[in-house]
Amino acid sequence: MPVGTLGTVKAVSPDELRDLGANMVLGNTYHLFLRPGSDRVERLGGLHSFMRWDGPLLTDSGGFQVFSLAAIREIHEEGVVFRSHIDGSSHEFTPERVMEIQRELGADVAMAFDHCPPGDCERSEIVEANERTLRWLERCRRRFGELEQRDGRTDQAMFPVLQGGTHVDLRRQHVRQFKELGDWVGWGIGGLSVGEKKSGMLDVLEALHGEIPTDRPRYLMGVGYPCDLIEAVSRGCDMFDCVAPTRNARHGTAWTASEGQVNLKGARFRDDTDPIDPDCDCYACTRFDRAYVRHLVAAGELLGMRLVSIHNLRFLVRLGELAREHILLGDFPSWSRDWLERYHGTGV
Ligand SMILES: [Zn+2]
Repeated sequence: MPVGTLGTVKAVSPDELRDLGANMVLGNTYHLFLRPGSDRVERLGGLHSFMRWDGPLLTDSGGFQVFSLAAIREIHEEGVVFRSHIDGSSHEFTPERVMEIQRELGADVAMAFDHCPPGDCERSEIVEANERTLRWLERCRRRFGELEQRDGRTDQAMFPVLQGGTHVDLRRQHVRQFKELGDWVGWGIGGLSVGEKKSGMLDVLEALHGEIPTDRPRYLMGVGYPCDLIEAVSRGCDMFDCVAPTRNARHGTAWTASEGQVNLKGARFRDDTDPIDPDCDCYACTRFDRAYVRHLVAAGELLGMRLVSIHNLRFLVRLGELAREHILLGDFPSWSRDWLERYHGTGV
């Protein structure tokens, strides 16, 4: 899922997203709540209509942003009090409020409000966050059900968010506790890719593999880079979101199949008449060469950022398409091993 933080995937239009094969987009509850306001988005017809995206839309719970972005905060059982990073105004997110905001935005998939502790915190803090997340999940589900009844609509789904850091036992326990609460249409895996070692993340995904029902989508939140995507798919993950494709693009960094990650600002691309990635079928790669994209990026031209964003998004979407293709063919293990070997071989 390309990340549309403020109701836009930075520098890329909804038509371009559709053309590059994106079939679901993520919006950020925290950001949209503050600006332009979820009540305003609702009055204007909901986020689909507001941003002219008619495909599936998922909104996160705002938990991650509140715990990482908002300047001053107070965490208590009721919810989290925080100050806006924009104007310092004070707000409170509770599990109930977060369900209401995501309803106002009109997401197809809403995420439960979770307590996401920092990646480097003590085990006792993680235990506490897990317990709170579980209690908050019950409150989210209750409010979610009330909103369904109020509106007479059941076309929004809610995913719970698993926490537990890199503690495999706490992760397993969390899944079991969630399963006792009910049958979920999908599962969010949070609290990873927050600064822990890569092997820690993979161990957790490995452990969760046998615990989360295999017939439900598994959403690894905030991940990732091309190799993370392949490693996570091998461990059963289905959905991803990350700002890396567009954020890297704005700095001139592109992913390629044969050379890994390259910075297009490099002088070696000055006279290079190849596309960004000769293997890619995106708009940028079928129309422009590296020399031109390098010139745009080095000069800080907006088109340069747009072209590299389109390319990076297509690169990840296509990687997902290829993974799916090889799962269906039955040769995903050997294909992914070769892919990773080739990609790592580039020195990434
Ligand atoms: Zn491309």
